[in-house]
Amino acid sequence: MRIAVISDVHSNLRALEAVLADIGAADAYWHLGDAVGYGPDPDAVVERLRQLGAISVRGNHDDAVAGGECIRWFVADAQEAAEWSRARISAATRAWLAALPLQLVQETPVGSFTLVHGSPRDPLLEYVYSRAVAREILPEIKTRHCLVGHSHIPLHFQTTGERDSSLEEWQVDSGHPARLGEGRAILNPGGVGQPRDGDPRAAYMIIDTGAGEAAWRRVDYDIEATQRAMRDAGLPPALAFRLSLGH
Ligand code: ZN
Repeated sequence: MRIAVISDVHSNLRALEAVLADIGAADAYWHLGDAVGYGPDPDAVVERLRQLGAISVRGNHDDAVAGGECIRWFVADAQEAAEWSRARISAATRAWLAALPLQLVQETPVGSFTLVHGSPRDPLLEYVYSRAVAREILPEIKTRHCLVGHSHIPLHFQTTGERDSSLEEWQVDSGHPARLGEGRAILNPGGVGQPRDGDPRAAYMIIDTGAGEAAWRRVDYDIEATQRAMRDAGLPPALAFRLSLGH
C-alpha cells in the first residue's frame, strides 16, 4: 500500500498539482490540514482534494476560513488572507471545511496512525517542533504512530529501544526514510503550499507499507505563478514573497 501524506496546501494549487504529478499513483491520500489560508486558490484546492478522495483533518486555517475562532490568534497578514478567503469561497468549500474532523485514526500493516494538524492534546494550535514537545505528547498518542502538520517543517521523531522515553530526532534532509517496523514514530511531511524550512520546494511524504518505510520528497513548482496570482488577488505581498524563501 502506497499512501501519499500531504499537509498545509494553503490554497496553493500549483504546488499541489506538482506534488500530485510527482506522486503518480497512490492507494490513499491523507491530508493533515490547512487546505486553505494564505494562497489564491481555496475552492480549486478543496475541489482537487475531494476529487482525490483524500481523507483530511482540520487545520487552524481551515477553522478560520470556515468562520471559526482560530482567526483571532492570527498575525495581521494571516488574518487578512483568511478574511479574503471567507469572502470568496463557495458554499460547498465552506461546508467541506466546517465538516473536517480534528483527528482521524487509520490502520495499516505497519501499525495504526493518528492524523492530526497540531498535536493530539491541542489538535489545532500546538506545534510539535522539538524532541522535548514530542516526548511530552507521546503518552497522549493512542495509536502506534502519529502524523502532524502545522509547522510546515519535515520532521522525524522515533522511539528506539525498549522504552518510549528513548526518543530520537532525525534530520529529514539527510534523505533517509523512517523505518516504521521499529518503535513509534511522529512524522511531519513538511508543507506543500508554504514550506518553512528554508527550501522553497513543495514537500510531502510517501508511506510504503510493503517496504515498512516513510520517505520525504521535494518537488519544484512554478512559485512565480502562485506569487503573481496572489498579487492579482490583492493578498498581502509579504505572504507572496516568503514563498521564494521557503520561510
Ligand atoms: Zn499551515
